[in-house]
Amino acid sequence: MTVAPSRSPRSSAELIRAEEPVLAHNYHPLPVVVARAEGAWVEDVEGRRYLDMLAGYSALNFGHRHPALIEAAHRQLDRLTLTSRAFHNDRLARFAESLARLTGLDMVLPMNTGAEAVESGIKVARKWAYDVKGVAPDRATVVVAADNFHGRTTTIVSFSTDETARAGFGPFTPGFRVVPYNDLAALEAAVDETTAAVLIEPIQGEAGVVIPDDGYLRGVRELTRRAGCLFVADEIQSGLGRTGRTLAVEHEGVVPDVLLLGKALGGGIVPVSAVVARREVLQVLGPGQHGSTFGGNPLSAAVGSAVVELLETGEFQRRAEEAGVVLREGLTALVGKGVRGFRARGLWAGVDIDPAVGTGREISESLMREGILVKDTHGSTIRLAPPLTITDEELRTALGALETVLRQGV
Ligand SMILES: *Cc1c(COP(=O)(O)O)cnc(C)c1O
Repeated sequence: MTVAPSRSPRSSAELIRAEEPVLAHNYHPLPVVVARAEGAWVEDVEGRRYLDMLAGYSALNFGHRHPALIEAAHRQLDRLTLTSRAFHNDRLARFAESLARLTGLDMVLPMNTGAEAVESGIKVARKWAYDVKGVAPDRATVVVAADNFHGRTTTIVSFSTDETARAGFGPFTPGFRVVPYNDLAALEAAVDETTAAVLIEPIQGEAGVVIPDDGYLRGVRELTRRAGCLFVADEIQSGLGRTGRTLAVEHEGVVPDVLLLGKALGGGIVPVSAVVARREVLQVLGPGQHGSTFGGNPLSAAVGSAVVELLETGEFQRRAEEAGVVLREGLTALVGKGVRGFRARGLWAGVDIDPAVGTGREISESLMREGILVKDTHGSTIRLAPPLTITDEELRTALGALETVLRQGV
């Protein structure tokens, strides 16, 4: 019997070098190689520990490996993982019921990634425009906001205003109108009888946690109702507890016609996304008109149901709101000391760094050396979105490290 020689474990530096020739270069990660994690903490290959202040862009709202979610996944792994939608599975009804209940909407279309949920939402809105609203064939439009981020597919980058995301990927899908975010007059001017939907993020995450003026979301709700088109809210990042509410639209007491969810819906374990909508909207889909091999698979449904159960306790929304106060206080104290300004809601902040101190990337690298993981966006902004399970003390540790880095320079 021959035994394969055991390979000596590779260092972080070796693993980073090993990626270079074999992995597409579509990301520019911080030079940290994570090997294990629990709660708000991750550990690299060499055993260094870091506080995770990004939480997988809010895919890890419940922290790494939340016990209830891991248990739900384990239990399901031991029973059934995939059926395809050619057959029913015994987990899907409960997942759809609980998600509809949580959101106050009627029907669920389960998908996997966020981009798929957005694509699916666009298809549903167009079909609704033709079947229900009576828009002439192939004339339906969707109005979107500048500086949006809705994902990376060909259709979605068609209405991005980020040149890096678009350049080299045309020709683009027609049928979209872009208006400035947080501008109801511009929105009103863009909406007409061809409009199937207005698709916006209630808070623009990738743009730097841009929060619209109070009244904007209510205005979008009223305008779309008056114009007879759908309000599609992309809550893939803002939703599921992040802002101190289950949904960011709740801050204005608004219920959209169509809700797009993803990221945290998979509990940081599996990709789970969904289009959730009023019945008269989602019922436009018939057999064969849309689908996904993995959408609604029993493992995803089991994890998704466990996520909804956590959110039904209200505990995470409450923590996001409470810890958000600590976050805002800490950031307020740094304004003028390397921080030019910030925008925050719940446990989510976009922090504009004084360019004299360093770029967002440099600050992120310095924070990494202090044991804090964050991600920069748009040059001089860093984004803070820790797991909602983070303690006040851990949060103060992160804020203290930011103060140190800003004081010492990068
Ligand atoms: C992340 C994100 C998406 C895309 O989700 P993926 O799972 O990466 O495809 C869409 N919309 C918003 C608002 C997001 O934050």
